[in-house]
Amino acid sequence: LRSPYHGGHLEVIVGPMFSGKSEELIRRVTRAVIARQRVQVYKPALDDRYHAAAVASHAGRTVDAVAVRSAADIRAHLSGEGALLRGEPLPLPDVVGIDEVQFLDGEVVPLALDLADQGVRVILAGLDLDFRAEPFGCMPGLLARAESVEKLTAICTVCGAPATRSQRLIGGQPARFDDPVVLVGALESYEARCRVHHVVLD
Ligand code: ADP
Repeated sequence: LRSPYHGGHLEVIVGPMFSGKSEELIRRVTRAVIARQRVQVYKPALDDRYHAAAVASHAGRTVDAVAVRSAADIRAHLSGEGALLRGEPLPLPDVVGIDEVQFLDGEVVPLALDLADQGVRVILAGLDLDFRAEPFGCMPGLLARAESVEKLTAICTVCGAPATRSQRLIGGQPARFDDPVVLVGALESYEARCRVHHVVLD
C-alpha cells in the first residue's frame, strides 16, 4: 500500500486563535531544517504580529518567512524571477509552509495542490472558522483535499474547557454577525472560547 506521505502531500493545521497553530507549524518546519531539507515559509503580508518577515507564535518562537500579498506572489517567489529570465528553472524546496493561510485568496488551493503534485511537502496553518464560526475563505477546499488534518484546541477564557472558536470583542462587547471584518479606529480583541461561551450578536 502506498503511503499518502510518500513524496509530495498536503498537511493542514487548523483551530481557533491561541490554539498553537503557529507553534505546530514552527515545530514541523524546524524539524525539517534539522533534517537538512530545503524549507521556505510564507505568510500573508497583512499579519505582522511581531516581525515583518517571520512567523511568530503567541509564546514568542519565530521562524524566518517571506511576507506575501497573494498566492501568485508565492508562485513568483518560488519560481525565482531572475532565474526564470535566464531560462534556469529553480529547484523547488522540499518543504513549503504557510501560516495564517486563511487570509490568502482562493488561488492558494491550486498552488498547494500543484506543489504537492510536484513532490513538495506542503504544511499550511490557519483558522478553520471566522469570528462568526463560519468556515473561513479558502480553508474548506484545503481541508477537504489534505492528506493530513490536525485540529487543535485552545483554552476557553471563560470556563477553561477546550476552545474551538475565536471570540471577537469590540470595545469589550461581543461583535455582531454583520460587523465589518476590518473596523478602523475600533478597540477590538480576540479570545479563545468553547461552543457554549462563544457569542455572536445578531
Ligand atoms: P495560534 O497560531 O493558533 O494563534 P500560537 O501558536 O500563536 O497560536 O500561540 C499558542 C500559545 O498561546 C500557547 O502555547 C499559549 O502560550 C498562548 N495562549 C494564550 N492564550 C491562550 C488560550 N486561551 N488558550 C491556549 N493558549 C493560549
